[in-house]
Amino acid sequence: MGDGERSAQAAAVDISVGRLSPDEYSRNFGDAHPRLTPHQALVESDRCYFCHDAPCVHACPTGIDIPSFIRKIASGNIKGSAHDILGENIMGAVCARVCPTEVLCEGRCVRNLQEHKPVAIGALQRYATDWLFERDIQLFARGPGSGRRVAVVGGGPAGLSCAHRLAVLGHAVTVFEARGKLGGLNEYGVAAYKVAGEVAQREVRYLLEVGGIDVKLGQRLGHELSLTRLRAEFDAVFLGTGLGAVNDLGIDTRPMSGVHDAIDYIATLRQTRDLGSLPVGRRVVVIGGGMTAIDIATQTRRLGAEDVTMVYRRGPEHMGASAKEQAWAQTNGVRIKHWARPVRLLARDNALASVELEYTRLDDQGRLIGTGERFTLAADMLFKAIGQVLVRSAFEDALELLDTGTGRIAVDAERRTSLAGVWAGGDCVAGGKDLTVVAVEDGKVAAHSIDRFLRIAQAVGAQHG
Ligand SMILES: Cc1cc2nc3c(=O)[nH]c(=O)nc-3n(C[C@H](O)[C@H](O)[C@H](O)COP(=O)(O)OP(=O)(O)OC[C@H]3O[C@@H](n4cnc5c(N)ncnc54)[C@H](O)[C@@H]3O)c2cc1C
Ligand code: SF4
Repeated sequence: MGDGERSAQAAAVDISVGRLSPDEYSRNFGDAHPRLTPHQALVESDRCYFCHDAPCVHACPTGIDIPSFIRKIASGNIKGSAHDILGENIMGAVCARVCPTEVLCEGRCVRNLQEHKPVAIGALQRYATDWLFERDIQLFARGPGSGRRVAVVGGGPAGLSCAHRLAVLGHAVTVFEARGKLGGLNEYGVAAYKVAGEVAQREVRYLLEVGGIDVKLGQRLGHELSLTRLRAEFDAVFLGTGLGAVNDLGIDTRPMSGVHDAIDYIATLRQTRDLGSLPVGRRVVVIGGGMTAIDIATQTRRLGAEDVTMVYRRGPEHMGASAKEQAWAQTNGVRIKHWARPVRLLARDNALASVELEYTRLDDQGRLIGTGERFTLAADMLFKAIGQVLVRSAFEDALELLDTGTGRIAVDAERRTSLAGVWAGGDCVAGGKDLTVVAVEDGKVAAHSIDRFLRIAQAVGAQHG
């Protein structure tokens, strides 16, 4: 029995602000990994074999020519290197920081075979893109105007990537974003220490500098906007709305304070300048096993929570979070309890006091079942981090024709939806991996498909006109 379990019945609710000193907050939420120095970048780039048909390139969802950008760093052509990166992935600066490279490019690097240490592709990508941004060098220009207008709904990685590529291709783009800032989860979701400082907004500014992108903030599809209206007013529509709702715990919970959606709390954390003003519990329980669960657990620890336990209903190998991310949480003092699920939340004076959990296992047919054995964890705060779902009401007026049968929007290889003239990408579409880099690729692929569609329509129009 752990400390949290022993004290479940006794402790009073303890949620408070200012658990740490200002210095501790800035240390805990500053850049998690320092950037490479020019000398380190040179040494690291020299480790690359510049492989033919490089496996790292195949593992990059945006298909960046990795050996080419690394070779350019080695030869001192940093601008050319950044061009290789941003030409395929306009959000390459944030992706360099947030991509789980251990399961993507670096996971496939041939250097793993000899030295068990891949070339630090992510760090080199960051080196080149930071170099460019610091010098304010704009590599892209808007193409000659096509006279066509495209609506992009959602200003996250998928929507912004689509908008940028469409602008480069000469189309006039309007981005409709529900929130007060662009960037999507880069700005409101990803752990603060991965994207420290202004990097997310710096990237948004860079991307908009290309021109031809009109931004309308505070415009939510399903409220101020309707898909029917956008389809009537624009030549094409791209949906990049992400996943706006959180899965429920699936247990009876009466309203009580102390129970939170992890993504709402993280969004507040990302927008709070004085982290000492953010209340955090002394004992925190996180339900979930993905990246969101790791992030809320690690960040509450870094806000000064004393005892943070992640509870996941299966084993470590089943978790959405990679082994590296699990190790990161544990290094930060997070306890991960596998094979358990919540069955009851217990309150005192309408405030969460503890969580009753049941051990789980797989039955003979491989189904997850409860063992009947229970234990209790004292908790001042509980965070739900068990996956997000599509807000289907945003597309209410078009749901008859828009295929969302699997719970997300169905798209083909070009990211066309079942609704004529409407494309979609990022977390809101079925079959994705819920990664920033995948959303960026979806936006890019959709932009090229929209471009082909608009140019064919234009050519047909010219023939008949
Ligand atoms: C806590 C957390 C941590 C993560 N960490 C990582 C990480 O480290 N690395 C990684 O690769 N991925 C990470 N991810 C996943 C990654 O953030 C997403 O895959 C990526 O942001 C998806 O981009 P998107 O554009 O599809 O959606 P989003 O980023 O969600 O953007 C959608 C945008 O649409 C807007 N919107 C929503 N509904 C409407 C509407 N009805 N009308 C108008 N606008 C609307 C939203 O406000 C938002 O700006 C994380 C996710 C979470 C939740
Ligand atoms: S696999 Fe590794 S060594 Fe080969 S090109 Fe990619 S980064 Fe370089």
